Amino acid sequence: MYREKRRIAFFGGTFDPIHTGHLEMARAAREELGLHRVYFVPASRNPFKEDGPQVSDEDRVEMINLAIAGFPWFGIWEGELDREGPSYTLESIRYIERVYPNSHLFWIIGYDQLDGLSGWYGIEQLIFKIGFILVARPGYRMEWPAIPGLTVYPVRNRLMDISATEIRRRLKAGQPLNGDLPEPVEAYIRKKGLYQ
Ligand code: ATP
Repeated sequence: MYREKRRIAFFGGTFDPIHTGHLEMARAAREELGLHRVYFVPASRNPFKEDGPQVSDEDRVEMINLAIAGFPWFGIWEGELDREGPSYTLESIRYIERVYPNSHLFWIIGYDQLDGLSGWYGIEQLIFKIGFILVARPGYRMEWPAIPGLTVYPVRNRLMDISATEIRRRLKAGQPLNGDLPEPVEAYIRKKGLYQ
């Protein structure tokens, strides 16, 4: 009997904190590509970022859970937090493909990551395991990466000029956030006094 393969996307990031730009990326990817699930994957430490996350893993996870509550097609995969050292997507996918056999696996990235994609650890193996969902980000152009065999799925998303860096800066300076954070996430940050 023919059974449609499940289409599952993973979205890696520092999520320090998760913001409405991230939620819009996941929404656009799910709707445009008919994904069954999108899992947010908090990274333990981004190999391309020198500074680590500003808050604990537990706080980042809690904020993701608050942001995705009520969206049954969104989930969180914490597998990278349990690993020592930097988060490599190839290692995550090797694990994930055993948990989700017979599925189409995707990884979501913003245009800002295209430039560095050819330097990702094991990219030459990764391209045979996953398709990359590309999401537009203000200030970045879609530059087709010169990686033979790479499959990309550009989606049309609402452009949102939001970054976690700017949100952290505004929180520290006591400036308004203009709805860049999901409400429960902002309430959590204020209650716990994070990013001060
Ligand atoms: P930081 O400012 O701390 O670097 P960030 O806002 O870029 O954080 P990440 O957690 O690093 O957020 O997000 C993971 C990935 O999601 C980013 O590398 C980027 O590709 C993408 N992304 C984040 N924000 C946006 C946005 N507003 N529009 C499009 N893509 C985004």
